[in-house]
Amino acid sequence: MEKNTVKVLIIGSGPAGYTAGIYASRANLNPLIYEGNQPGGQLTQTTEIENFPGYPEGIQGPEMMEQLRQQALRFGARIESKTIAKVDFSSRPFLCVDEDGNEVLAETVIVSTGASAKYLGLSDEEKYRGLGVSACATCDGFFYRKKNVAVVGGGDTACEEALYLSTLAKKVYLIVRKDYLRASEVMQKRVREKENIEILFNCNTVGLFGDDGVEGAKIVEHKGTEREQVFDIAIDGFFLAIGHKPNTDIFRGQLDMDAEGYLITAAPTTRTNVEGVFAAGDCADPIYRQAVSAAGTGCRAALDAERFLMEH
Ligand code: NDP
Repeated sequence: MEKNTVKVLIIGSGPAGYTAGIYASRANLNPLIYEGNQPGGQLTQTTEIENFPGYPEGIQGPEMMEQLRQQALRFGARIESKTIAKVDFSSRPFLCVDEDGNEVLAETVIVSTGASAKYLGLSDEEKYRGLGVSACATCDGFFYRKKNVAVVGGGDTACEEALYLSTLAKKVYLIVRKDYLRASEVMQKRVREKENIEILFNCNTVGLFGDDGVEGAKIVEHKGTEREQVFDIAIDGFFLAIGHKPNTDIFRGQLDMDAEGYLITAAPTTRTNVEGVFAAGDCADPIYRQAVSAAGTGCRAALDAERFLMEH
């Protein structure tokens, strides 16, 4: 097993982790980035990014993440394509152990582990995972060309996924539990204008069915009211787009977090409750969750780590 001693360990990639890597390496801190099992994070599962400043024509998510990665490498960041499985923040240097049992002793740690898609919690989601259930339209949409699919959720992600799928699938149901979409106006308009997207307002999915894969979903409209009615829709693909859960389980009991698991930082810094441990990006952001705001906190975390190392 290897033993590595580093000034800055960055756990997680994505815009926050790579930006922290760019800043820390330019400050000669030789950061080590553990990029995890989804290098580049959530943006590698998206299509076009239109709102990151500097790309007037937009850019594909995976391409932007590869550019950030290359930029971090260019200044000397080292990257491990593995996950950190365990951390001990009780004393410094912090002991972090990766999935293969290799140990990293880190003088500072920047946590940028991001967030993962949420599921409804139906047992059928487990049963049909990979057999019609997905939380990533851009990864799996291709399998549903000229078929019927459903997307659950009423936010920007759901609209984006529905729009993307509408270019491939025959028909897209957008299953929304309230009587309105919470997505931005521009996304709502695009969805409404698509002929092959049907919005099912006030609807909840209570089950999926099918022999070898998803063949349909059981929907309850106006659940719990006098108008309640149950019906089935015939679909081959069921896509979740109902928000995200921060990837912070390995820090439980060591770093302060809110009820949902988002890490708590001492605003306006990225300091956590453990001196020398900083948090950046979606794992510490229940509000904005944008690529550009994640990159911004990655920058701040690297500057905070640099300052901390100078003072200690
Ligand atoms: P949001 O939290 O904005 O939306 C989640 C949606 O899922 C809501 O409609 C919510 O319903 C619904 N939902 C949550 N739980 C359930 C459930 N158990 N059953 C049914 N429906 C459920 O998450 P998003 O991922 O869409 O967006 C996160 C952030 O990222 C937002 O700030 C968004 O603006 C941003 N974003 C921006 C994009 C862009 O600018 N292009 C693209 C994608 C995301 P309800 O409304 O009832 O709570």
